[in-house]
Amino acid sequence: MLKIDNLHVRIGERDILKGLSLDVRPGQVHAIMGPNGAGKSTLGNVLAGREGYQIVSGSVQFEGRDLLELAPEERAAAGVFLAFQYPVEIPGVNNTYFLRSALNAQRKVRGEGELDSMQFLKLVREKLATLHLDDRLLHRGVNEGFSGGEKKRNEIFQLAVLEPKLAILDETDSGLDIDALKNVAEGVNALRSADRAFLVITHYQRLLDYIEPDLVHVLADGRIVESGGPELALRLEEHGYAWLENRIAPEA
Ligand code: ADP
Ligand code: MG
Ligand code: MG
Repeated sequence: MLKIDNLHVRIGERDILKGLSLDVRPGQVHAIMGPNGAGKSTLGNVLAGREGYQIVSGSVQFEGRDLLELAPEERAAAGVFLAFQYPVEIPGVNNTYFLRSALNAQRKVRGEGELDSMQFLKLVREKLATLHLDDRLLHRGVNEGFSGGEKKRNEIFQLAVLEPKLAILDETDSGLDIDALKNVAEGVNALRSADRAFLVITHYQRLLDYIEPDLVHVLADGRIVESGGPELALRLEEHGYAWLENRIAPEA
C-alpha cells in the first residue's frame, strides 16, 4: 500500500529525514516511535503533503501511485488521513458541517456524488454508534472548547467518517489521561480492517498497550534504526532510546 524508499527531506538548510524507508501493507498497524526531534511529525506531514518540506531524494508510492506528485487534497481523496498533533479550533464552524464539507470535497475529487444532509446524517449516526460516542460532538464548533480528550475523540470520529485507507495518527496519545487514551485506542481498534492501514506515531509506549501494532519502528535522527514486533516497544519502555544510540550513524 505504502512504500517509502530512501527518503531525504530538508527543512530550510537542515536535513531532517536522511534515508527513510518503510513498507506498509493493507490491514497493518505500524507504530513509529522515537525521541523528540527525530523527524516523526515531519514524516507524517510529508506524507500528507503539508508545505514547507523539501523532498531532496527518494520516493513514496501509495497504491502504486507517486504520492509526492499529488496535491494535499488529492492525497486525502486517495485515502491518506493525517490527524493533527494539535488540532485547530475553528470557532463558529459547526463540526458536522465541517466534516460533511471535507467528505464531499474528497468524494468530488474521486468523481463520486456528494452526500446530501440526510445521507450524511445517516453515515454519522452509524459511525457514532460504532465508536460509542454521543452526538454532542456534532453540534459543537470544530474543536471549540474541546478538552484534550474530546479533540482526540473527534479526530477518531473524523477518521471514521472519512474512511481513509491510510490513517496517520501523530501523537494522538499526547496529554491524555488513561481513560481518554483507552477511548482513543478503542476507536482505532474498532476502525482496524483488512484494507486499512495505520501509522501510529508516538513518543511513548503506553498507547501500544491498547493498540497492538504489527510492527514497531524506531525513528532516530531521520531514519529507521530498528524494526521489530510489539516486543520492541516494551524494550524501549524499559531501556529508553539510549540503548539504540550506537545505531545512529554520526553526521556525514
Ligand atoms: P518529532 O516529531 O520526531 O519530534 P519533528 O519532525 O517535529 O520531530 O522535527 C524534526 C526536526 O526538524 C527537529 O529538529 C525540529 O526542530 C525540526 N523542525 C521541524 N519543523 C521545523 C520547521 N518548520 N522549521 C525548522 N525546523 C523544523
Ligand atoms: Mg516533537
Ligand atoms: Mg512530533
